[in-house]
Amino acid sequence: MRLLVIEDDSDLNRQLTVALQQAGYVVDSATDGEEGGYLGETEPYDAVVLDLGLPKVDGLTVLKRWRDEARTMPVLILTARDRWNDKVQGFDAGADDYLAKPFHMEELLARVRALLRRAAGHASSELVCGPVTLDTRSGRVLVEGAPIKLTSHEYRLLAYLMHHVGRVVSRAELTEHMYDQDFDRDSNTIEVFVGRLRRKLGVDLIETVRGLGYIVQKPGG
Ligand code: CA
Repeated sequence: MRLLVIEDDSDLNRQLTVALQQAGYVVDSATDGEEGGYLGETEPYDAVVLDLGLPKVDGLTVLKRWRDEARTMPVLILTARDRWNDKVQGFDAGADDYLAKPFHMEELLARVRALLRRAAGHASSELVCGPVTLDTRSGRVLVEGAPIKLTSHEYRLLAYLMHHVGRVVSRAELTEHMYDQDFDRDSNTIEVFVGRLRRKLGVDLIETVRGLGYIVQKPGG
């Protein structure tokens, strides 16, 4: 899952980026509304954390432009404390959730998890596909109840496929959602990761759809 953080306070921006990376996400960050707005227009993010008070272009304008252009990724806005009208305007502009500063990082992580799973149509933080369970809270993966150890890349790959269960996901899409903008991308590496992941899982979960990509089938579907 690839996220975008737009926050002009450089300390907070760094804290957010590090916390989200440690939670297993790929994170791009921007410190003003112009750069951040452009990234959100041109890169495929699974969710965005957007501060409203930003230099160059304010957060509300950034959000409205995205929604006008039919960019539908979930957006969590960061508002100043006691600015209730910011929240109203934010929701009206297309925000999916908000947090008032200052906030606890744990709460931000929980809200981001909820946004990601709701966007993918899951009601629970635990994703279950046949014998495989992925707990998006702890980042743990169980196969038939037994925990298995995955690298961060393998985890991201599995998490993306399991969030989008029942849908064919192309290699290009996986590449875009697994690496940040600066990563030297080579879509062949996706095949390598899928191979390793299959061996570690040891069960038939990830199917190859020739010429199209990969799919994790819906349980019973
Ligand atoms: Ca700000």
